[in-house]
Amino acid sequence: MTHTTVSAYAAPSPKAPLEKTTVPRRVPGAHDVLIDIRYSGICHSDIHQVNAEWGVGTFPMVPGHEIAGVVAEVGPEVTRHAVGDRVGVGCFVDSCRTCENCRTGLEQYCTGSGMVGTYNSVGRDGEPTYGGYSTHVVVDENYVLRIPGAVPLDAAAPLLCAGITLYSPLVHWGAGPGTKVAVVGLGGLGHLGVKLARAKGAEVTVLSQSLRKQEDGLRLGADHYRATSDPSTFTELAGTFDLILNTVSADLDLGAYLSLLRTDGTLVQIGAPEKPAVLAAFSLIGGRKSVAGSMIGGIPETQEMLDFCAEHGIGAEIEVIRADEINEAYARVLASDVRYRFVIDTSTI
Ligand code: NAP
Ligand code: ZN
Repeated sequence: MTHTTVSAYAAPSPKAPLEKTTVPRRVPGAHDVLIDIRYSGICHSDIHQVNAEWGVGTFPMVPGHEIAGVVAEVGPEVTRHAVGDRVGVGCFVDSCRTCENCRTGLEQYCTGSGMVGTYNSVGRDGEPTYGGYSTHVVVDENYVLRIPGAVPLDAAAPLLCAGITLYSPLVHWGAGPGTKVAVVGLGGLGHLGVKLARAKGAEVTVLSQSLRKQEDGLRLGADHYRATSDPSTFTELAGTFDLILNTVSADLDLGAYLSLLRTDGTLVQIGAPEKPAVLAAFSLIGGRKSVAGSMIGGIPETQEMLDFCAEHGIGAEIEVIRADEINEAYARVLASDVRYRFVIDTSTI
């Protein structure tokens, strides 16, 4: 297979600052799309992986799974996309395509060969994958999404991971009129959770460490905003929520949050901290409560989410940065100082 070389930002080794480099991209095959990347979001998962918190990882690592761009070239058999189309790529670029999950649009839970991550993974061709902190990427047409014209490309990029990651559990657990949803953590994922839950018609409460971002949270569509540092939040809201979406990237006392669920309520774990959580049996059995997990979303649901966002005027609240500001942005994300997603202008790479 022949390759071209493109510019990118990579971490050369675990925990190392990202620096400019080049990576190979395959020449588009029959079903491939060459995307001219315009914007690439910075997800907290990028930081977990650069810091090798989810296992060793493959280095050099080019993170980035919130990709928005324009189709520059298509292979001869591509039918789903055309040159000039506005497109996006999320957390995976392939999967086995034959297992039950792949056949029903749950590619993120592929039980065959497993999904192929957009980066820090190995493609079905045996080559390492490199992500969106780059000028171009080549992806099979079936794993490329259409970005509706109503959503600007920079605000659309974070929808490809943060957006779908909150949309999918809201749909799965039936958030809508008459349901009370809490979003824990007002970061990249959380702020889109607030917008999406509101658009679905649920009553939305933000549970944040402090009231620092209260005004923003209410402006984004939350009905209520409470600080988890205030013990009265847990006494006054006990037994309130049908659904709690925990987007926090660090360990939390899950028992305290379970006490906020109504009977039969569900706490969905979305944040992926390094260490396992501790769970007391009585925090669950006392109210037939559930703890669940949810990971991004499949291709059909991601397209549905993008169309839903276009219909409801939803995009991410972003701070566009230059590529040479990536390391500084990582430090700010770690300090919960993100409002609410950093997006790299990839023309600066
Ligand atoms: P983020 O922008 O850093 O947001 C996380 C938020 O959690 C922070 O803004 C902060 O909100 C809160 N937080 C951070 N540290 C905390 C602490 N020590 N105690 C309590 N609250 C704390 O990160 P993100 O990009 O939204 O990602 C969040 C997590 O989801 C990460 O672990 C990421 O890997 C994971 N993730 C999972 C999936 C999935 O498919 N399940 C997909 C993408 C990302 P406040 O300041 O409001 O408290
Ligand atoms: Zn992500």
